[in-house]
Amino acid sequence: MALDIAYSIEADDFIDADRAYDYFWSDRIKDKTAFLCPGTNCSAKVTCANMDKDTQDMKVVVHYRIIGKNHSSECEIDQKTPLNLIYEKNNLPSGQNPAIDDSIVDQFFLSRPESYYNEKAHDPLQDERKRKTSTASKKALARLRETGRTSSIYSVRQIVSRYLRYQKDGSLKHRRIAIRGNDATYESFLQSIREDDLGELSNSPLIYYGWAYINRVRADDAYQIKFKKKLKSGEKSLTTTILIPDQLIENYRIKKLITTRLKKVHEAAHPTAFIFVYGKPKQSKSGDYANFHISNLDMIDISYSCPFLSQHDKV
Ligand SMILES: [Zn+2]
Repeated sequence: MALDIAYSIEADDFIDADRAYDYFWSDRIKDKTAFLCPGTNCSAKVTCANMDKDTQDMKVVVHYRIIGKNHSSECEIDQKTPLNLIYEKNNLPSGQNPAIDDSIVDQFFLSRPESYYNEKAHDPLQDERKRKTSTASKKALARLRETGRTSSIYSVRQIVSRYLRYQKDGSLKHRRIAIRGNDATYESFLQSIREDDLGELSNSPLIYYGWAYINRVRADDAYQIKFKKKLKSGEKSLTTTILIPDQLIENYRIKKLITTRLKKVHEAAHPTAFIFVYGKPKQSKSGDYANFHISNLDMIDISYSCPFLSQHDKV
């Protein structure tokens, strides 16, 4: 059955599969089998499938799979009852139950909190199960994450991954995403790059996507992503690009993932990739280009193939 969160033994935390993926690619966790069922007192083994895959074939999206059969007698997952989390009530303002509408809004943050990658000091003498139990207070947070009520997203990769998941489970139409207090439907938040006029694009940044070439440029110290389709300004076609200086990659925690993908695409006979970028394209001073400026590699996702499941979404 689908499992939204699991307990990561290595991170000593209840995390969703997206976060497990980030942790793996930033070297914080290493073993995709080092997870436990999130149920009460349960230590059934869980695997985070595809955590170590750098491809973004969403037919094999990163997800948890319960391997162990030895669930505890109290395990809510095994009994298919909601997780019983003792701190849950304390975290909600009194008398307030999360409304359905709230529960399906994901929050997109443009930068990660300082603590996102923090290593936790842990006592190696404590066995896995004791540690899991001792982190019971975190279950409240896990519960909130699970309902989606404070479902925080920090990267375009996660948004794309959720979009595809919602598309697959049929809930896409009802799903919304909030950025800086404004919310939009997932469907309107992702836009393909076609021959659109710059002046007619949304005033707010969105996620734009399409096939692109990846080249090395300048004094070989940056990658240039050049979309196959061009934007326009009036009658003029604008070459649409994103510049990724090596320095930007150097400063990024999940650089192993980005460099693996960029290198693999760049070295291929046909160096093309399916790119997602969050931003608002601007016309260059010379007037010939439409450029996306990104300050952070969480704002981009590089995929080897078009990840959309249905024909409808293809470019
Ligand atoms: Zn269990």
